[in-house]
Amino acid sequence: MSPVSDLPSYPSDAPASQALFDRARAVTPGGVNSPVRAFRAVGGTPRFMASGRGPFLTDADGREYVDLVCSWGPMILGHAHPAVVDAVTAAVARGTSFGTPGEGEVELAEEIVARIAPVEQVRLVTSGTEATMSAIRLARGFTGRAKVVKFAGCYHGHVDALLASAGSGLVTFGLPDTPGVTGAQAGDTLVLPYNDLDAAKAAFAAHGAEIACVITEAAPGNMGVVTPAPGFNAGLAELCRAHGALFVSDEVMTGFRVSKAGWFGIEGVTPDLLTFGKVMGGGFPAAAFGGRADVMAHLAPAGPVYQAGTLSGNPVATAAGVTTLRNCTDAVYAHLDRASATLRDAVSAALAKEGVAHTVSNAGNMFSVFFTGTPVRDYDDARGQEAFRYSAFFHAMLDAGVYLPPSAFEAWFLSAAHDDAALDRILDALPQAARAAAQATPEGN
Ligand SMILES: *Cc1c(COP(=O)(O)O)cnc(C)c1O
Repeated sequence: MSPVSDLPSYPSDAPASQALFDRARAVTPGGVNSPVRAFRAVGGTPRFMASGRGPFLTDADGREYVDLVCSWGPMILGHAHPAVVDAVTAAVARGTSFGTPGEGEVELAEEIVARIAPVEQVRLVTSGTEATMSAIRLARGFTGRAKVVKFAGCYHGHVDALLASAGSGLVTFGLPDTPGVTGAQAGDTLVLPYNDLDAAKAAFAAHGAEIACVITEAAPGNMGVVTPAPGFNAGLAELCRAHGALFVSDEVMTGFRVSKAGWFGIEGVTPDLLTFGKVMGGGFPAAAFGGRADVMAHLAPAGPVYQAGTLSGNPVATAAGVTTLRNCTDAVYAHLDRASATLRDAVSAALAKEGVAHTVSNAGNMFSVFFTGTPVRDYDDARGQEAFRYSAFFHAMLDAGVYLPPSAFEAWFLSAAHDDAALDRILDALPQAARAAAQATPEGN
């Protein structure tokens, strides 16, 4: 079933992780609870992590890694940040869920509204998937229209209607679409090439009166990081306004990560609705969607569009989220920007020294490394890279104690805890990894 099974099989020097993986596969499909964690794109034994502190993870075999995944974004302050641990511990002691409103969820909503001007009202949910699914339902309920425009390579969670040409795990596994999504569910989704405003204009010319919304990653990170071309998001917002559709900016990854106000804080294009997750949960399941008050007023119980959640606004998750956001100071973002630039330059220099064609692409402090010499503006460009070189690079870094995303189609994430010592460990590992990438062949090494 896996189209990547012909990748080189890397020897396992992680016996405790391998033993856990064997147990996991007996009781869980593929041994993991989210596909990319299984290492199928890079081969080898997925590392089962036992603990994390600051910029480091420790696996079941007791090996320490500098973490450049940061739980796919949320751990912006580093692992086990003392203020977050204290807030969570205090919240747990007060009781873990009430199924009633509570002060913590008001505080988290206020923190979000205070940071992001276009968010006048916000509803808390439990995952980014839930946030985009609910935002789409609200856009359809508000406009009375059915069609949704999305872009190839943008991932908005595993929402049925949004799994057409999604990035992330689906690119990794090369699945064009997924069984289990019916034609009816996908049929109202129009998929366009990213960064192609002319394609969006044509879609509106043909279907303008039927389009409920355009949803896009504010700056895509799920086909690797692809920078939105100047004017692309603004052009989409304008098209939506002209045709009575809503512009939905998915900031689940970029929100509170690339600046205090996310990608909106960098680019300043005003969406009608925004979705959030990852950083705002501080490592717990918390996500949100929000935006224009007149649109949000259509949500139950204020309005007719139904949406609900047993654990929405959970007091432990909101304590982690509020504390994380309050500790994301200007100094934290300045540090992330600096560390990201240092690392991008160092990776590029190491690969250039070995003659490896590459493109380092960033959106603020989020970045990824594509193994191609041509600029990456869309999903086809991203898929044109030599991903086999990434596998070799990844394993050389892993052997040197650096944990990269186990796929060439993902963003790399830093935290406030990545100090000079952590960065030096990464820089020290780069020459050997660049050599491994240079020597890699499509058949394996
Ligand atoms: C991670 C992500 C999601 C899905 O969030 P989950 O919490 O994994 O459901 C949606 N959109 C974007 C842009 C993401 O990066």
